[in-house]
Amino acid sequence: MVIRTAKFVASYPRVEKAPISNKPEYAFIGRSNVGKSSLINMLTCTKALAKVSQTPGKTQLINHFLINEEWNLVDLPGYGYAKVSKSDRKAFSDIITNYILKRENLYLLFVLIDSRLEPQQIDIDFVNWLGEHQIPFALVFTKTDKVSSGALQANMDAFSAEMLNTWEELPQMFTSSAVTRTGREEILRYIEEINKNTKINQLESAEKIW
Ligand code: GDP
Repeated sequence: MVIRTAKFVASYPRVEKAPISNKPEYAFIGRSNVGKSSLINMLTCTKALAKVSQTPGKTQLINHFLINEEWNLVDLPGYGYAKVSKSDRKAFSDIITNYILKRENLYLLFVLIDSRLEPQQIDIDFVNWLGEHQIPFALVFTKTDKVSSGALQANMDAFSAEMLNTWEELPQMFTSSAVTRTGREEILRYIEEINKNTKINQLESAEKIW
């Protein structure tokens, strides 16, 4: 997919404040500091569409961007950062869970995992929570320029093994690096495919009504 335009739309403190949209929406989430803002900027070829965080866990806003006038990209707050205020300490804040459960045009969530680390319980808990609520998601293993290919494979295998304790099938997985731009084409192609299939489905149902 060629990114022709990438515009910041607005930031919302909670999902109820976001205008209803019928555009396909893709949201990005992960632990604070996982490299979410860097990935969003890399995907959209912008230097600072998403702000690369100085203070992890600070931003608790839902940031909306419009890509190619065609689909929404959403930057969700990071989860699982310990040094936030007491009321924010719940692993997945209401901002996050409400958005995920209530946003009707949310097509897919990209869950970012730090490829340098062994499986983190909070990430496992999060994907299991998504499973319980039947939310479609894909995994993106970030910062791959910082690990050897052997360690990357081992960490991805360990994450998969951990998931297979409760899941029958594994989700789509990507690897990414904001430095080498690894994963850019693959992730954008994946989004493009979903958008294309949606259009075909919409056309087909329109034809049926006709
Ligand atoms: P966020 O809190 O998840 O939005 O993470 P950021 O995008 O702000 O990144 C956190 C830190 O990791 C920053 O210092 C980034 O420069 C760094 N970082 C993010 N992605 C990559 C990557 O792919 N490779 C490397 N080497 N560093 C990264």
